[in-house]
Amino acid sequence: MNLAILGATGSIGTSTLDVVARHRDRYRLFALAAHSSADALLALCRLHRPRYAVLAGVAPDARIAAAFSEAGSELLFGTEALEHIATDSRCDVVMAAIVGAAGLASTLAAARAGKRVLLANKEALVMAGPLLMRAAAEGGATIVPVDSEHNAVFQCLSDARAVRRIVLTASGGPFRAAPLDSLESVTPAQACAHPNWVMGRKISVDSATMMNKGLEVIEARWLFDVPASAIEVVIHPQSIVHSLVEYIDGSLIAQLSNPDMRVPIAYALAYPERIASGARPLDLAALKELSFERPDERRFPCLRLAYRALERGGSAPAVLNAANEVAVDAFLAGRLAFTGISRVIADTLDAVPAAAATDLDAVMAADAQARRAAGAGVLAEAA
Ligand code: NAD
Ligand code: MG
Repeated sequence: MNLAILGATGSIGTSTLDVVARHRDRYRLFALAAHSSADALLALCRLHRPRYAVLAGVAPDARIAAAFSEAGSELLFGTEALEHIATDSRCDVVMAAIVGAAGLASTLAAARAGKRVLLANKEALVMAGPLLMRAAAEGGATIVPVDSEHNAVFQCLSDARAVRRIVLTASGGPFRAAPLDSLESVTPAQACAHPNWVMGRKISVDSATMMNKGLEVIEARWLFDVPASAIEVVIHPQSIVHSLVEYIDGSLIAQLSNPDMRVPIAYALAYPERIASGARPLDLAALKELSFERPDERRFPCLRLAYRALERGGSAPAVLNAANEVAVDAFLAGRLAFTGISRVIADTLDAVPAAAATDLDAVMAADAQARRAAGAGVLAEAA
């Protein structure tokens, strides 16, 4: 199978390359894409020798292209190149691992083109869930979730009609037990120090606010076609049980493993088969405890905002997502307090009316409007 990895230099991208390198007989690398880190991408090309490389955020530059050519990869520039790669007839599988709204267009294009889409870019489903699922159905694409919770649910689903409830587990992040009044002054470094997972900076902050779980509720709603009322979030600090499906007979089926993204990535790559992932096997007897608790709404207001956006429907989840991206960027840049993130998102949801989100243009218009409103919100917080 020929594989393209969009977001190859990121946390999911490098874990994917690690799994693929264990199975050279099964997977050939068609393309590796990144935003602007030419050196990091070139190093990956030297190691993995893809046919194409893409720098989506860089203008054409003959000198950079020559270095890639020496490594055996043809370098393409600009965001359109992502879509060319994702729809190329020589490519069978697309790992969608770009972070944020920037991944939507290429993910949608891969779905329309009928690829097997390994979906890490949850923001695409949050912004345009119905659009993306319809594009996949019409294009004959298979979407296999990479997000560990959704991958777990995917593994636990047998009779979809008999599902009573989907239970998404959340670690609670680095501030699960911190005094509430200390949250105002936490730093980006503290927020990115996740207790169980090493991830990109944006999703790390999302985990600390629990907006990550909010985005995942929306993701689950579209992936598995279940109403929000049948999706429950429970905190599980050990990150061993990755999620559960409850059936109408009272059975709860869970998927367990050590927290290592190579497990869901390997499953998504080989589905319906299984392949070795490189992850350390789980030693059940060595586990001291598996505990579960309800999330505290005062500590994690972002979770409720996500349910609210889902209820409102239309473009509201895209507005939520854009406001979150703006607020998280501002927090990481030291321009917004940690607790300001949820305030900016709540105000943006109030300020931007939900519209229909029937095509990509409508979704991107809502995204742009929300970014302006959230930008103003960040400035107001600073004043
Ligand atoms: P990351 O920040 O480590 O990597 C992001 C990748 O996207 C990089 O390769 C970067 O070059 C590329 N990129 C960024 N902006 C781009 C743009 N405008 N155009 C093209 N490429 C761009 O992020 P990550 O942690 O690997 O997360 C990637 C996605 O996977 C996110 O949607 C995240 O929510 C999801 N996810 C990640 C994890 C994890 O463990 N890291 C788990 C579940 C889901
Ligand atoms: Mg997840």
